[in-house]
Amino acid sequence: MELRLYDTLTKEKRPFVPLDAANVRMYACGPTVYDFAHIGNGRAAVVFDVLFRVLRHRFGAEHVKYVRNITDVDDKINVRAARDYPGVPLNEAIRKVTETTYQQYQDDVTALGCLAPTVQPRATEHIPEMRAIIEKLIAGGFAYAAEDHVLFSPQAMNAANSALPRYGALSKRSLDEMIAGARVDVAPYKRDNTDFVLWKPSKPGEPSWPSPAGITVEGRPGWHIECSAMAWKHLGEKFDIHGGGIDLVFPHHENELAQTCCAFHSDRMANVWMHNGFLQLESEKMSKSLGNFFTIREMLADWPGEVLRLTMLKTHYRSPLDWTQKGAEESAKTLDDWYAVAADVEAATPPPAVVEALYDDLNTAQTLAELHALRNAGSSNAQKLREFAGSLRLLGFFSESAEQWKSRKQQASGVDVKLVEALIAERTAARARKDFKESDRIRDQLAAMGVTIKDSKDGTTWEIAR
Ligand code: AMP
Ligand code: ZN
Repeated sequence: MELRLYDTLTKEKRPFVPLDAANVRMYACGPTVYDFAHIGNGRAAVVFDVLFRVLRHRFGAEHVKYVRNITDVDDKINVRAARDYPGVPLNEAIRKVTETTYQQYQDDVTALGCLAPTVQPRATEHIPEMRAIIEKLIAGGFAYAAEDHVLFSPQAMNAANSALPRYGALSKRSLDEMIAGARVDVAPYKRDNTDFVLWKPSKPGEPSWPSPAGITVEGRPGWHIECSAMAWKHLGEKFDIHGGGIDLVFPHHENELAQTCCAFHSDRMANVWMHNGFLQLESEKMSKSLGNFFTIREMLADWPGEVLRLTMLKTHYRSPLDWTQKGAEESAKTLDDWYAVAADVEAATPPPAVVEALYDDLNTAQTLAELHALRNAGSSNAQKLREFAGSLRLLGFFSESAEQWKSRKQQASGVDVKLVEALIAERTAARARKDFKESDRIRDQLAAMGVTIKDSKDGTTWEIAR
């Protein structure tokens, strides 16, 4: 079965052929760690986790390397550190902010069912690689130092007579139009208005490192060079897949690609560029100012992580995802059913229809349609039920047993489990002495608490009615 992926650069869905099938390499841009991640960041994590799982399925778990970086140098981090830890030396405060935030992010995306990437490099641990790339770019004539900054010149890149890609190819922008449209109040140290920063001097108190290019004052890297350096260190000069949210295509990925290709004189950085669409809330753009902004942590207070994950997978990763309360409620019902019928079932290899849908550029909407059909067929066919269980595991579900899922839901509902069980025991006793008035009264009392009960020959079970 052929795996096909859509590439932003060539705008086509192509069969995916890794550079080395024994070492399939993907890089996804991770979080800037200064605050709780929002549910949109969660979508990016889930999308590339699904890709990671699909690649592991296709090439074998030990043959896939997934790098997701942590951006721990950023102005927003510095501002946060100064605000939250007044009186603490800035560098120490920054470390506190990045470590706490990173741990929160880890916990949040783990709750969303994401596997840990193979490597999670931190920008601050790759300064030597950044300096090395910057030196290569200067030596090649693609970058220059001016007033303690180092700048990259897209115009030098496009003037080079070589196999280099053209600057602007990824984001489908023309450099000439960028030159014409650039702001006029451009920094005085830039030769051209389209030049971007590779390195800049640090302000007093800010984190700083020895600078490249013979610059004597200490400085810090620009954002784009961080990812070029981390991808190089962990995946090499060329690798298979580079991903991130659609907002990163320009300027971040365009610039990463330019830096890496010019430094290593190569025609490409990654063979496939993949971008997830944005998540929006109730048809509106999610934003802090509109007040419709949710962190993953807030969402996890209302829903199990797998409910959030399933809600995300209903939409194809390249389309905008419209987050609704109703959508999450439906996912919760679906998962209650799936957990009850299959979470404890032995998993079998996912059937071709499920794998084909996933291999078609991660068509998770189609995959879910196949899963609903499989679940129905599984009611009367034990093998299909096992394939259903295996498919859900492949997609990152069923982290708990059916019993854990149910009891967690009962606890989360705020219902007093001990009281419910005591009432059920009383009702059973009432029924045994044929006091049906009393047993009906208890059933009503439970219903008023939001609890429905079901009697069978094995006894009485209960669940929370949503
Ligand atoms: P950031 O920490 O903002 O750099 O974002 C981390 C990742 O989440 C990047 O891949 C972003 O493109 C992605 N991202 C940010 N906002 C959203 C959103 N609303 N929907 C989907 N992905 C997003
Ligand atoms: Zn990046």
